[in-house]
Amino acid sequence: MKGKKLILAFDMYGCPNRCLHCWIGHMPNVKPEDGADDFVASYFYPYFEQIEFYSWLREPDFCPDYRQRWEKDKALSKNAEPERFELASFYRIVRDDGYIPFLRSVGVKKVQLSFFGLKETQDRYVGRNGAYDEIMLATEKLINGGIIPRWQCFINEENREEITAIYKMAARIRENNCKELEFFVHEGSCEGENEKLYPIRIEKDHIPPALLPVYLNYDKLKTERECCLILENDRTSPEFPTGDEITLYVSNKYDVYYNFTNMKKPWIIGNLKEDKPERFTDKIINGDTYALNKARECSWSELVRKYGDFSSGKAFDEGDYKTYLFNRYLNDLQI
Ligand code: SF4
Repeated sequence: MKGKKLILAFDMYGCPNRCLHCWIGHMPNVKPEDGADDFVASYFYPYFEQIEFYSWLREPDFCPDYRQRWEKDKALSKNAEPERFELASFYRIVRDDGYIPFLRSVGVKKVQLSFFGLKETQDRYVGRNGAYDEIMLATEKLINGGIIPRWQCFINEENREEITAIYKMAARIRENNCKELEFFVHEGSCEGENEKLYPIRIEKDHIPPALLPVYLNYDKLKTERECCLILENDRTSPEFPTGDEITLYVSNKYDVYYNFTNMKKPWIIGNLKEDKPERFTDKIINGDTYALNKARECSWSELVRKYGDFSSGKAFDEGDYKTYLFNRYLNDLQI
């Protein structure tokens, strides 16, 4: 497609974790069949001038041959190179001494690590015993290996005091080991697995004052009530524009999704093994999908009147709140 760039993220290896906040959603890890990566990339070659290919969409480098994998991802890309971002596998950092040197060799300068609380809470939220100890060890190894850790914390009603304790730990590490260590707190979106945490979503008034200086985009943070009042007379329909750069998520069953929100059934665009490439590419570019067609049939005012809680002080970014409302609507359609 002239002028269009495609970013393809194919879930080839899955993820070692099952985080309670996972916005993508939990899926089994399935070993790819031989040639699966060539098939997925070449499916789109005739239709896009530029393609960035990634063999992961959950945990980067969650395969033992991550060096060769990185080279293959570059080779499968077309007129483009995949990026590294500030993401890495803490599972691998603590198990493989060659991994941090590899990250440095491909230009990674910072790595983000996610916190949900102290030991018991962190292990429960990540879905693995030992996750807290691993993330602390990963922090130490990154610092010693010359990479800056960035701690992101997901706050809710249950863990707010623990997040304050983690902020104090980060301050100590900055003072003693790594003054560049980065730290921020946010409430996260409300979709995928995270939607189940709606009942314990942090109230804006309950965010500990000590965390306000490190709270991400606090000046734009709203209560659910404020979001409802903004949307109650908005007659426009939900829109999820794709633009000139389209990002697609491909599951290990070859189902294809946009990267807008979770990977649940209403958001499936089609399946690479079942759909003909030309028609399928048209659907992607024109947004001719089940979820996007449903979006055109409703308005924000209808959605907020049906699903919004005008008395709620829960904290939301306005865009996340809109996605939450629309996903509530899709859930009710029960396809
Ligand atoms: S949030 Fe990331 S690390 Fe956690 S389960 Fe989802 S994909 Fe895996």
